[in-house]
Amino acid sequence: MFDNIQVQKVGKLLSQPKNIALVSHKNPDGDTISASLAMMHYLRQKGHSISILVPNQYPEFYNWIPGCQEFIIFDKDAALVREKVENADIIFCIDFNRLSRTGNMATDLSKSKAVKIVIDHHLEPSEEFDYYFTETDTSSTGELVYEFIEAFGDKKMINKDIAIAIYVAIMTDTGSFSYSCDHARTYQIASELIGNGVEVSLVHKLVYDTFTETRLRLLGFAISERMLVWKEFHAAVIYLDKKDLDRFNYQVGDTEGVVNYPLSIADVNLSVLLTEKDRLIRISFRSKGNFNVNRLASAHFDGGGHKNASGGTSALTIDETIGKLKEVIQHYKEELDYKISL
Ligand code: 5GP
Ligand code: MN
Repeated sequence: MFDNIQVQKVGKLLSQPKNIALVSHKNPDGDTISASLAMMHYLRQKGHSISILVPNQYPEFYNWIPGCQEFIIFDKDAALVREKVENADIIFCIDFNRLSRTGNMATDLSKSKAVKIVIDHHLEPSEEFDYYFTETDTSSTGELVYEFIEAFGDKKMINKDIAIAIYVAIMTDTGSFSYSCDHARTYQIASELIGNGVEVSLVHKLVYDTFTETRLRLLGFAISERMLVWKEFHAAVIYLDKKDLDRFNYQVGDTEGVVNYPLSIADVNLSVLLTEKDRLIRISFRSKGNFNVNRLASAHFDGGGHKNASGGTSALTIDETIGKLKEVIQHYKEELDYKISL
């Protein structure tokens, strides 16, 4: 899975106690949060001093994962994050492929002289790192953390806390084992994690059955009142402006998953969610089947991600962004015209 020489070199680095910072990407999701926590529980057993840093607030429904209380959030305590970055011998970049994905933390990270190690599954990692533990054809960064631990011969260190964290990472990045999970390996790993104490149905409930009433009503409103279906392009768009979000008392994480719903329409191959955040429009892209949203996001919306799930931004208004989107996807009309089949 990983390059042997890198494993040896990093193994040597990790053979003495080090100050290590684990860093998540901006707008943290279940994978970046949980993969980082799994690494924290693992590296502490090896005698390292660990801090765990995140650019902005993660959704509250991950708060139960063991270790979550230890996250230092740049938006809330920039000074402490800077101190940890400055003191770090090693920085692990977890679930992102370029430092700019850490938002306001990126400048401090790029200035740091620490050894930078990336563990990630996004396309096209940048050249900002010293060591690469990357593989795009895998379910999640959580799965790569398992492979990382195994590569160093430390599988016996996988305890219940690590198993839960890796399981949450895989579960959330595959939509509960419904996409990016075509390899038997993912299930072999899941099976081992269950052997280490993961209670699958409990973990599922702790992550997914935690909506507030307003979050569920926002989902209903988004689908019923804010979804455009562009049949000719096999595409659908959901747009939520600040007023909509305020009306439903929006909290971080409340729009997670919303973008997937339009793909449940048989002929829709592309789904786009626009949300008005601060002065920018956050964009989420999802596709089913062959259409590559990473290309769309990186070519036109300053973003990227994976073939079937990407993100980006727009500095236009919501209406203008919808207009731009319609204009842009004209050029992909033929590529979007397919039926998924066996
Ligand atoms: P989401 O739509 O859930 O925010 O993101 C979907 C996927 O795209 C995730 O894997 C995420 O890491 C990636 N992604 C989201 N936003 C951006 C972005 O602005 N730039 C890049 N390169 N990737 C993004
Ligand atoms: Mn991920």
